[in-house]
Amino acid sequence: MAAMYRGRFAPSPTGPLHAGSLVAALASWLDARAHGGVWLVRMEDVDTPRCVPGADGTILRQLETCGLVSDEPVLWQSQRGAHYQQALDRLVAAGRAYPCACSRKDIEAALQAQGVVRERHHSAVYPGTCRPERGGLRGKPARAWRFAVQPLRSEVRWTDHQLGPQAQDVATEVGDFVLKRADGLWAYQLAVVVDDAAQGITHVVRGEDLADNTARQILLQQALGLPTPAYRHTPLVLGDHGEKLSKQNGAQALDLSDPPTALMQAAQVLGLPTPGRDTVTNLLAAWTKAWPA
Ligand code: GLU
Repeated sequence: MAAMYRGRFAPSPTGPLHAGSLVAALASWLDARAHGGVWLVRMEDVDTPRCVPGADGTILRQLETCGLVSDEPVLWQSQRGAHYQQALDRLVAAGRAYPCACSRKDIEAALQAQGVVRERHHSAVYPGTCRPERGGLRGKPARAWRFAVQPLRSEVRWTDHQLGPQAQDVATEVGDFVLKRADGLWAYQLAVVVDDAAQGITHVVRGEDLADNTARQILLQQALGLPTPAYRHTPLVLGDHGEKLSKQNGAQALDLSDPPTALMQAAQVLGLPTPGRDTVTNLLAAWTKAWPA
């Protein structure tokens, strides 16, 4: 029954929350509460060069102002390197991860030599140059570590609780993706899979811009023998020109001088009824009842 629900909101502290991140936070909180479950906050601060000092504290205060408080102590990914290393070691031992010597230039050159024409803005599908069966590092120094996608079992199908049936062939659409970066930092895909499992997350509710990562995460869960949570990807807040709001394109930090109004705007994006002005507590209670669990 419902008591087994564990959800989370996992912001990257690259800046304060913006209107889009509040939608994801609110949706994950409401989904947890509507299921009588537990809601956690996890700071995804693995990409240290992009993290802004103090942004984690700002985000937690912003959430609290909106009545969204983690039910358990907040987890910081920057402190979990040993766990990510263990997972990588297990994948290497199982033949599912390998070191890669390729620079971005090498990858482009290999793709060109194969006659692959890449659409603009599409990231390169790794051509497999350093795969062990193709000779591995060939004496070059390792830069990154990659997941060995098994082409014959790379088509992932799942049902998103918001978007419906989804499918992605990770071998042809993504290729062997990075687990540990050339700069020594852990990749989001590995960290998120290890931590969702470590925290017993049963339901992932997050913004639609992340939906495309789900197939990779499911393949990693399978390779590590970890359970796959339920996924629900919530609508994005678009800017005035239809662009996705993000800290990278300078989205405004959330104005929390008036938390009920900020929450009502987020609720509207989620298609929730917007009752008249009320306190944060009453609004959250009304939306929890209205949430389609
Ligand atoms: N840290 C990611 C972000 O802020 C979210 C990861 C997730 O929810 O899986 O975009």
